[in-house]
Amino acid sequence: MSEQANIGVVGLAVMGSNLARNLASREGNRVAVYNRSFDKTQLLVSEHPEANFLAAETIDDFVASLATPRTAIIMVQAGAGTDAVIAQLAERFEPGDIIVDGGNALYTDTIRREKEVSAKGIHFVGAGISGGEEGALKGPSIMPGGTKEAYATLGPILETIAAVAEGEPCVTHIGSDGAGHFVKMIHNGIEYADMQLIAEAYDLLRQSGGFSPAEIADIFAEWNKGELESYLIEITAEVLKQTDAKTGKPFVDVVLDAAGSKGTGVWTVQTALNLGTPVSGIAEAVFARSLSSQAEQRAGKPELPASAQSWSVEDKPAFVEAVRRALYASKIVAYAQGFDAIRAGAKEFNWEINLGEVAKIWRGGCIIRAQFLNRITDAYRKNESLLSLLFDEYFISAIEASVASWREVVAMAALSGIPAPAFSSSLSYYDGLRAERLPAALVQGQRDFFGAHTYKRVDMEGTFHTLWSGDRTEVQTD
Ligand code: NAP
Repeated sequence: MSEQANIGVVGLAVMGSNLARNLASREGNRVAVYNRSFDKTQLLVSEHPEANFLAAETIDDFVASLATPRTAIIMVQAGAGTDAVIAQLAERFEPGDIIVDGGNALYTDTIRREKEVSAKGIHFVGAGISGGEEGALKGPSIMPGGTKEAYATLGPILETIAAVAEGEPCVTHIGSDGAGHFVKMIHNGIEYADMQLIAEAYDLLRQSGGFSPAEIADIFAEWNKGELESYLIEITAEVLKQTDAKTGKPFVDVVLDAAGSKGTGVWTVQTALNLGTPVSGIAEAVFARSLSSQAEQRAGKPELPASAQSWSVEDKPAFVEAVRRALYASKIVAYAQGFDAIRAGAKEFNWEINLGEVAKIWRGGCIIRAQFLNRITDAYRKNESLLSLLFDEYFISAIEASVASWREVVAMAALSGIPAPAFSSSLSYYDGLRAERLPAALVQGQRDFFGAHTYKRVDMEGTFHTLWSGDRTEVQTD
């Protein structure tokens, strides 16, 4: 075996060390490792002699231990840490070498870094890596950006460590510069929506259906055998099954109902706002976490009037099926919105992103892995320029089978005073997309009234303004 490594990892905290071990376990790889504090490197090497790591104490030794073209994956703290390591590597690397940032970078940072690094002839690849520490060790879903040329060297290495779904590695070249981190960001946004929708389904089953957490665990386990089959549904059943050892109560009843977040959901919504793409399911999921964490308001609230009806579910199996259908329909909307955001990002930043391939590499290794993603791949394979997933034949018939239940469940939630923001906003989005006419015409009238913002007419070309404070005649402005 060569004394030089074909790949190196910088940053040996939990993600980096697991990724390095994953790389080392695959045939054909020799892995160089480096961490700012050498004790972490020593610990990793001593705990995993089987990996045969090439351990470097200094960045110079690390660079010297890499065969050319040098390829190094950075797995350090996102932000300043990543910038510092990129600077150290870029100083020592030569044209044609490849720097990969495998951390959770914001795609705009990746675009900036790519510009800076590629000016020296060095490739810079921002790679979204999903699946947490277990994924890093056993097989993540990987979303690399950067140049095609860099992917030609990097791709075969990443293919050795990625998760495998239906015989195919969960990695593909997403597009240039920040495309990989952009797609990873949207993945996380969809994950927020999916989790929130599942949580709303649980809440409705519990509050309206009167099911216990253990019974709901069984319902989810059953759902996991059908079209909802996914990692998130599977783990939801596990969490609901859990009993607290200290009190004997269901685990969900002893956990504080305040959900945290690390920011990628917020990034997704901010980005979608800038792009003018409605990701209402994701936004509701982010806001639902914010509301849950408003400790002061929630603790200090007065008795708020509800006028809610108490809902008694007579046919429990029918109710469970209605909630399942509402969940599936809302989930379809969340994914449709997420893929719309990717399409909008691709247009804005000139990325050639194959949406079907994106769905494919999410089938394994990542948090939103699901059977259902095959349907998305099929939809884009049939029609690459599909304007919305909701317009695909399969999804039209899936919604057709669900939409009546979806309406019933959302109406029931509203009448009985149970918050279901993601269910109801997804339905509103769907109805918005269906509508022949939207009340936006009135909004245009209001805008023209107070701000002379002008409007278009349905029956003739041109731009118009009504003289609202004058004689209210209409003038054509261009
Ligand atoms: P982390 O806690 O985010 O960062 C710790 C690592 O960064 C240590 O190796 C540390 O070195 C290094 N570091 C920090 N500042 C540095 C600097 N200025 N120069 C050199 N090294 C520096 O580690 P992590 O949890 O393993 O995460 C690594 C990356 O993966 C992050 O970007 C994180 O956001 C991302 N991540 C992804 C997932 C996922 O599911 N995809 C999950 C978790 C994390 P020292 O040991 O010397 O302090």
